[in-house]
Amino acid sequence: MDHQHPDKKASRHDHEKHDHQTHHRHMMKDFKRRFWVSLGLTIPVLLLSPMIQSWLNLDWSFKGDNYVLFALSVVIYFYGGWPFLKGLKEELSDRSPGMMTLIAVALTAAFVYSSAVVFGLEGKTFFWELATLVDVMLIGHWFEMRSVLGAGKALEALADLMPGEAWLIEEGETRKVEIDHLKKGHKVLIKPGEKVPADARIFEGKSSFNESMLTGESKPVSKSAGDEIIGGSINGNGAVKAEILQTGEDSYLSQVIGMVKEAQGQKSKTQRLADRAAFWLTIIALVAGFGTFAIWMFMGRDLAFSLERMVTVMVICCPHALGLAIPLVASISTSLSAKNGLLIRNRTAFEGARNITTIVFDKTGTLTKGTHAVTSVESYKEGISEEDVLIYAASAESGSEHHIAKGLSAKAKEKELKLPESSDFEYESGVGVQAKVNDKLVRVGGFVLLEKLGVDAPEDQDTGAETRIFVLFDKDLIGSVTFADEIRESSAQAIKTLQQQDIKCKLLTGDNEKVAAAVAKELGMDDFMAEVLPEQKQEKIKELQAGGEVVAMTGDGVNDAPALAQADIGIAIGSGTDVAAETADIVLVNSDPKDIANLLLFGRATYRKMVQNLWWATGYNAVAMPLATGFVPGLMISPAVGAALMSLSTIVCALNAQLLRRVVRD
Ligand code: ADP
Ligand code: MG
Repeated sequence: MDHQHPDKKASRHDHEKHDHQTHHRHMMKDFKRRFWVSLGLTIPVLLLSPMIQSWLNLDWSFKGDNYVLFALSVVIYFYGGWPFLKGLKEELSDRSPGMMTLIAVALTAAFVYSSAVVFGLEGKTFFWELATLVDVMLIGHWFEMRSVLGAGKALEALADLMPGEAWLIEEGETRKVEIDHLKKGHKVLIKPGEKVPADARIFEGKSSFNESMLTGESKPVSKSAGDEIIGGSINGNGAVKAEILQTGEDSYLSQVIGMVKEAQGQKSKTQRLADRAAFWLTIIALVAGFGTFAIWMFMGRDLAFSLERMVTVMVICCPHALGLAIPLVASISTSLSAKNGLLIRNRTAFEGARNITTIVFDKTGTLTKGTHAVTSVESYKEGISEEDVLIYAASAESGSEHHIAKGLSAKAKEKELKLPESSDFEYESGVGVQAKVNDKLVRVGGFVLLEKLGVDAPEDQDTGAETRIFVLFDKDLIGSVTFADEIRESSAQAIKTLQQQDIKCKLLTGDNEKVAAAVAKELGMDDFMAEVLPEQKQEKIKELQAGGEVVAMTGDGVNDAPALAQADIGIAIGSGTDVAAETADIVLVNSDPKDIANLLLFGRATYRKMVQNLWWATGYNAVAMPLATGFVPGLMISPAVGAALMSLSTIVCALNAQLLRRVVRD
């Protein structure tokens, strides 16, 4: 891996992202302007068209109005049609003819033919069809750009969700500050699972850092004192202290926005299906158009008639409703979801939510609030008071972001205990922590830790439904602390709703058997597993998948990340750790398990709307195309009717997409 200076990386990243966003915004404005100009010019074109006049039973034609029509159409064709003509050139030089090619060919055929008619060729002009065609295409692309940008905005909100705070170390005290407060030279503490707040150099501790978003290096890189860490990378299992080298948006935001960029460029499976359909429709349209032309000429019809049929076929086959079908639904569902507290990071996973058969829940922080109020402290050793147990535990945990650590720290503060400094902090997710306090190696963890160390648990461990952790000096058990956690109010409701939809709800926790059983029972869950290590969580998901289940995993912690990645749909709790949010496909902003039911509903409705739109967009082509060729006796449609039908199918798609709002509200 080349070791570029992080600063350079950040700014390069920033630059690209800037390009990308402004590019889209620029394109959107461009389409918008061209649309309004073309629409303005379309009005006189419509009024001057013989066809429209005969419909309105009016006649305001004048000598030479043909030339006026021609002049207006030149502007519409070249100004309004420009993006498509440019697109044609690009697609052809890429050797991938697509919608742009088809639109451009149809527009050009209509324009060239109509112009030839104005200047003497026998036949009738297509000018108003041309004009409306351009308008519809432009508004379609304008909306498409808007939806792309809209999706980007939803992801920017994800950036807001990320804690914008860091642990600043000043005069031996650690306090939480806004990231904006950080200056070059400041010292910060970075806890496990947290993001590095800015480009910095480690001066104490060691850990592994996930820099994949910044460098593309997917394996965590281990770093210790003297090494530079990049702002925005994710800290692994160690707590480190580091000195800030660079601050501000450069480091932290650049990678978040890199993520926005990634999601913007992302196409869901359904979108790819639409693209493929559009490609084939293009090929069919071109073949059918030229084929129709050739057959009519071969059958002895004149050039005007044959050309008219060709243009009608191409216009009618133009899959522009298809171009809108998915983006419209996607943009509405993204914004609706965001409003309802669902941040979608992976569209394919979101649309796949309808297939879920099993949902696995993490316990602590997911189904429960993670309040972890200390209910009792016990000492097992003579000469060590309960207060000492609390002090050692709280001090050793000061590098941890876990609910247990917060509970201990809150209790220590309440009792106004003075905590000694700790160093060499290490965290094993799902097991516990260790750190040096007063030259002693202090370990804190649950039953799993005792098992790992080969230490027998003290007798009478009937904790009820409370979480208990043990405190050890190396392998010497000195005491325990018990915590009470609260189940979230909406957890039971969420599980009931999911079960009503025949989705199995399972609990997978690193906490002990008793607590797990109590929670699973209270919530009426289908199954539970306790004392599972992070890799085992992942393993369990794999097993379920091998058994044919489509599995969603919901979690908040560092220990859930592997399982979140493994699951078909990873759902992170908004208040959880950065790693969890980063690994998940969807983030529940309000940390409310009830929103999972909404997620299913939205995913399902979104997918249904997309499929419906694909049918609306392609089905009409299938029906109208044979009529456009003129080969069906007595059922030949004019180019005008073709264009109207085409617009109709677009409008149906747009309205149908809007109906998503209603589905979701109900
Ligand atoms: P869950 O999988 O339900 O979210 P936790 O994140 O609470 O479970 O982790 C499971 C267990 O791992 C805890 O009950 C505790 O025994 C141990 N553990 C995790 N983090 C810590 C920590 N910081 N200090 C002590 N023990 C911990
Ligand atoms: Mg958890």
